Amino acid sequence: MTDLEIANKSKLQPIQQIAENLGLNVDDLEMYGKYKAKLPLDLIDEDKLKQSNLILVSAISPTPGGEGKTTMSIGLSEGLNQLGKKTTVVLREPSLGPVFGMKGGATGGGKSQVLPMEDINLHFTGDFSAIEKANNLLSAIIDNNLQSKTNSLGIDPRTIAWKRVMDLNDRALRNIVVGLGGTTNGIPRETGFDITAASEIMAILCLSSDLIDLKKRLGNIFVGYTFDKKPIYARDLKAEGAMTALLKDAIKPNLVQTIEGNPAIIHGGPFANIAQGTNTVIATKMGMSLSEYTVTEAGFGFDLGGEKFLDIKCQRANLKPKVVVLTATIRALKYHGGADLSALKEPNVAQLKNGFPNLEKHIENVQKFGITPIIAINKFNTDSDEEIEAVLEFARLKNIQAAATNVWGEGGKGALDLAQLVIDSVDAKLSDFKPLYDWNSPVLDKISKIAQEIYGATRVEYAAKAIADLKRIENLGLSNLPICMAKTEKSLSDNQKLLGRPKDFVITVREIEIAAGAGFIIPITGTIMRMPGLPAHPASEQIDVNEEGRITGLF
Ligand code: ADP
Ligand code: MG
Repeated sequence: MTDLEIANKSKLQPIQQIAENLGLNVDDLEMYGKYKAKLPLDLIDEDKLKQSNLILVSAISPTPGGEGKTTMSIGLSEGLNQLGKKTTVVLREPSLGPVFGMKGGATGGGKSQVLPMEDINLHFTGDFSAIEKANNLLSAIIDNNLQSKTNSLGIDPRTIAWKRVMDLNDRALRNIVVGLGGTTNGIPRETGFDITAASEIMAILCLSSDLIDLKKRLGNIFVGYTFDKKPIYARDLKAEGAMTALLKDAIKPNLVQTIEGNPAIIHGGPFANIAQGTNTVIATKMGMSLSEYTVTEAGFGFDLGGEKFLDIKCQRANLKPKVVVLTATIRALKYHGGADLSALKEPNVAQLKNGFPNLEKHIENVQKFGITPIIAINKFNTDSDEEIEAVLEFARLKNIQAAATNVWGEGGKGALDLAQLVIDSVDAKLSDFKPLYDWNSPVLDKISKIAQEIYGATRVEYAAKAIADLKRIENLGLSNLPICMAKTEKSLSDNQKLLGRPKDFVITVREIEIAAGAGFIIPITGTIMRMPGLPAHPASEQIDVNEEGRITGLF
């Protein structure tokens, strides 16, 4: 059965019922149809959330298909609920780029899914559209200001860093010229589109604590320089009020349900290669206010999403995760052990063992934050018992808790061992979270710390552009912001060909972008895609809808 067929066979409960189970008053819900509702921010309770146990699901370095973090997060939350712990899974909203491209949606898989999966994967409650509009409103205001005779700020069009966004993979929009067509149609300039999930507004929404904080951050967006080299921010264009108005509903988290009828909160969706790769702070705090355990996910491997989750989000929001679940698949371990992508389904214990150093490095990295890792093997049908046993044996030797799970095939039942390990670890108070670096230390030190301690690099090299950017960051007084590395997810290094646990490599920072509104700086290593393209045969070719509106082909 496909994911969508399994989803369609599940009997959904009205969202009021899910809310009631959480102890909510049905009047508090803002209904979006029968199965989706937005939650007002005043349900966040700072005292209650301190009692809640935050569990981060991360992973080893992934293969292109993903290693199943979302599926694992959902399955683990079902398992914890089965063991009597009131648990909410909190996740990102899917982007249409991957939905129609190669990877597919982001609502889990098999028996571990959030529902209604078609809605969540497509327009959902309109949050992405609102973000897109707020982003493009600023673009329109900028281009209008260039045109204006009476209101001109004197912005040098060549310095404008702000781009338009759209939530599709559309490579033809990466580089464009706007303002063509004569004097009434704007000032011609080169610009482009990014995908919505990579926009700074997405990052801002995900780090904001409320509407006022959101507005302040939107006002802090760096736009570019005037001809006299004066920095211009969105607030100089008086843009933040209208942008916030467009986001007044998007800031509220969305309540839906899992296949087993447990609560799921899905909100915000920044990419993990260029942004922080985790759902909104508001959604995490909401989950923690309403339940004993909150399970959440950060994008890509622990070196990317995990590190950013802990150093940016947790520090910003004063969150202290108690456990990191490291999702590992037999296929990814074999891939890191040198197996060909086409041979990952064939049992091969020798290659599997060759891949263990990748897992080992991620374990060490979690421990650097004072948090206890638990390995969760995400079982696939093609895995052999011998391979699973080899990973469990490796964990025993390393003195790390590990469980083989079958969340995809069985839902919560397939995650009971893992759920018990998580509970035991929380009860034993094994973790004492401490961030990797102090935000106030020098920018170069912060970058070196991530590159050397987390990636395992010998040192960091800076291109001429990056050195100029560093100077600029200093001049703008932004040196105390945390670091949001932009790096390939395929390797612990910045070279996607270096698999396993690379050694003796240098990280090269080509340039450093500023996200003054989101409140982080982005060292760019390698070529990072902010507007992905579609593959030759995109997933969209399989997606269809019949006369009753029933969708097929989504996964
Ligand atoms: P991630 O969150 O790490 O990117 P997902 O949970 O979205 O990964 O899973 C990626 C894809 O792999 C999804 O299509 C999901 O259905 C599928 N998948 C995950 N785990 C399994 C499994 N154990 N067996 C088969 N398919 C799986
Ligand atoms: Mg995911």
